[in-house]
Amino acid sequence: MMQPIIDAHIHLDLYGSRQQRQLLQEMERYQTEGLIAVSNHLSSAERTLELSQVDQRVHPAFGYHPEQKLPAPDELSGLLAFMENHKETMKAVGEVGLPYYLRKEEPTISMEPYKELLELMIVHAVRWGKPIVLHAVYEDAPVACELLEKHSIRQAHFHWFKGDKNTVQRIVANGYKLSVTPDCVYEPEIQRMIQQVPLTALMVETDGPWPFHGPFQDVMTHPKMIHASVAKIAELKQLSVAVVYDQLLKNTKGFYQF
Ligand SMILES: [Zn+2]
Repeated sequence: MMQPIIDAHIHLDLYGSRQQRQLLQEMERYQTEGLIAVSNHLSSAERTLELSQVDQRVHPAFGYHPEQKLPAPDELSGLLAFMENHKETMKAVGEVGLPYYLRKEEPTISMEPYKELLELMIVHAVRWGKPIVLHAVYEDAPVACELLEKHSIRQAHFHWFKGDKNTVQRIVANGYKLSVTPDCVYEPEIQRMIQQVPLTALMVETDGPWPFHGPFQDVMTHPKMIHASVAKIAELKQLSVAVVYDQLLKNTKGFYQF
């Protein structure tokens, strides 16, 4: 059984143009009502905006991905000017956050400038009245929470969340949302987290074109994979699939104001 879904986090601009066409063409067949298309930097934001102009089911978010070198000052000011100019079209500020995996590779990297950049993005999200999409996992998640709380942020989405139970509870208590990718089908760590999170705080995403394993090995990441995630969530929560579909769609539409 399939019911309507929304992919709450995808990097549509990172797919090749043939793959983009295929993906958009197949949305109806797989009951995908919309895509929250996040971006990584200025040129990524420009491409994502173009995609949203071609297809209204693509809802663009603009930001600077934390798992990369910091932007040069003029790239940052260019990105902020772009976001200001397109704030009507912009569904959310994102992807922004903290460089967890980059720090694993290069432990000497200083967190401070990344925290400053995240705070700057938070301040702009408040100014524009937009939700914010975060990449902040494990010990970075409480750091991000603290910044969000400092600025009284009400709408934050922790995408592909990984972290401890206390942070899950803090995120949920703040009214923020968490999303899971298709790895929830085979990752025990994510499955445990799903059991800790109330269904009302969950969303589903692909983070495509990021590749997955298990049943998705060597398959192009596609929003249709979300149907497998929904089935797994229903199983873990011992709820009917229909109830889970309805609630996830409601969460995502409410959060992103469809
Ligand atoms: Zn992402």
